[in-house]
Amino acid sequence: MLQNIVVVGGGTSGWMTASYLSAAFGDRVSITLVESARVGTIGVGEATFSTVRHFFDYLGLPEDKWMPACNATYKLGIRFENWREQGHHFYHPFERQRVVDGFNLTDWWLRDPRSERFDKDCFLIGTLCDNEKSPRHLDGSLFEKAISEKRLYRTTLSEQNTQFPYAYHFDASLLADFLRDYGVERGVKHVVDDVVHVAQDDRGWITHITTRNHGDLAGELFVDCTGFRSLLMGEALDEPFDSYKDTLPNDRAVALRVPVDTERTGLRPCTTATAQEAGWIWTIPLLDRIGTGYVYASDYTSPEEAESTLREFVGPAAEDLEANHIRMRIGRSRRSWVHNCVAVGLSSGFVEPLESTGIFFIQHAVEQLVKHFPASDWDEGLRNSYNQAVNRCMDGVREFLVLHYYAAAREDNDYWRDTKTRKIPDALAERIEQWQTKMPATESIYPHYHGFEPYSYVCMLLGLGGIPLKPLPALELLDPSSAHREFDLVAEEARQLESTLPSQYEYFSRFR
Ligand code: FAD
Repeated sequence: MLQNIVVVGGGTSGWMTASYLSAAFGDRVSITLVESARVGTIGVGEATFSTVRHFFDYLGLPEDKWMPACNATYKLGIRFENWREQGHHFYHPFERQRVVDGFNLTDWWLRDPRSERFDKDCFLIGTLCDNEKSPRHLDGSLFEKAISEKRLYRTTLSEQNTQFPYAYHFDASLLADFLRDYGVERGVKHVVDDVVHVAQDDRGWITHITTRNHGDLAGELFVDCTGFRSLLMGEALDEPFDSYKDTLPNDRAVALRVPVDTERTGLRPCTTATAQEAGWIWTIPLLDRIGTGYVYASDYTSPEEAESTLREFVGPAAEDLEANHIRMRIGRSRRSWVHNCVAVGLSSGFVEPLESTGIFFIQHAVEQLVKHFPASDWDEGLRNSYNQAVNRCMDGVREFLVLHYYAAAREDNDYWRDTKTRKIPDALAERIEQWQTKMPATESIYPHYHGFEPYSYVCMLLGLGGIPLKPLPALELLDPSSAHREFDLVAEEARQLESTLPSQYEYFSRFR
């Protein structure tokens, strides 16, 4: 078996990789993580996806252990503002569909809408987010009773039946610090130094890396977590990068960390994505500040204009804060595992922050790495299978994000008009045609694992409003009384939760 792993990079991907591998393999492998003090981390990436709880569970970290250390809050979904028209909002919740007489509640809703708000008529989370509720009662129990939090085994992304109805927001720097301490306590060797050379043998395999002050570090498996620089995979191994820019044009971002008094502002339990003239602005509420940033396409606006739009959006609290301008490399490495090098995180690929999938990709990659971990014969089949899983996951998310822009009803300037005429992946175009007569289902969405389930596609189509959808004719012949009872039940449960759940602010202030 391989026993010597070198991770290069100490951002979220470096420390998630090192801590996960040490949780999986214990002292049966030796892990060294090298990070530069000179090259900073990206400094963003603070909203997550509902699968992330499996990561912390796998590490044996209950929420009360890691959340306070990372100023973390709950995220019940994403609030999309102004994607359909100014003043409109809807939620993409982390809550699964109810099914009545074999049809999704959203199918019944399309036939006979209760109100303008599918997200409140069919799901509880719409109401919880509008009212800034915590997903937990003060005794710690979750709003959704079906979730069992006591399991005897460690779960991974493949256990689809154990998905959670929430994710987290956290401070990215605090999380990296927390995972560093976790890893180092479990034996990860931490070297703070610059990698100045990547040495390869005549087959192109990495033999060692050379650091500025700590000499050469040899290893068997090298994990490239160097961010968009992609020092090992891109620079040394020269693996081609397949850009997604033809279908996802947002290529830059400008970000601010805004201190806030959450007692006054409250704590929204969701990420907000507010559509703008040339992209969208994220708002991520943490316990002591908001993380916010404008993701935009440089073909449609300049960095100066984007920064001033963001400052105006934030208001006086943005004065004197330093903005972080970021160039995004959108797309993926053709292969993320080449020879004895695996790229994880931004060095492997990135779509864009909409739907918060960067950290999900990292989690998916490290889980797959454990599942495909090679022996010293370096079985080619394992490498190919890993690359297929990673590529499919990113390509699938790319499709889902392209749909966001294409299906958004907004068409009020060149940026938004072009989202309707720009090329979209052929398979997605076919699927969209199909969804106009029958809403997305397991057999009609992107067919490989990419984190998103059919209900997410349904929510986006209903919320974005730019694609005409027809109710299923069969529903006209079916007795709708059970569906009506279910809508009543959703409304009743939502009312009850609204009066019994604490606000997210109240929940966290009690534990602080
Ligand atoms: P980085 O954070 O860039 O870390 C790179 C590391 O490599 C650093 O430690 C650096 O010191 C080290 N390094 C570089 N060169 C050398 C060298 N020569 N020697 C030694 N060390 C070196 N993801 C989400 O899930 N949710 C979000 O809300 C989200 N928002 C985002 C918003 C934007 C604008 C962007 C660009 C990304 C966002 N992401 C998000 C993605 C997320 O930020 C990343 O997936 C995550 O931070 C991981 O980054 P990384 O560790 O791969 O790279």
